[in-house]
Amino acid sequence: MPTCKECKHITPSPTGDPSKGICIQARSKLPETQKTSMAIRGKMILKNTDACECFEKGESWKDIKELI
Ligand code: SF4
Repeated sequence: MPTCKECKHITPSPTGDPSKGICIQARSKLPETQKTSMAIRGKMILKNTDACECFEKGESWKDIKELI
């Protein structure tokens, strides 16, 4: 069974708890009136949690600053 660790997530701070992260895989569609069509729901995860139905194998980012 894959875990959140193998899915798309961010570890917000290198000095924080390395067993926790933020899920960036679960996206939601926004209403037509918004400029962007998708939003990423940031959800706190424990990396050793069993993967959910949104699992998608991917990279993790060590620091959120790399995405900005
Ligand atoms: S398995 Fe689910 S909760 Fe975990 S990081 Fe992936 S999409 Fe998020």
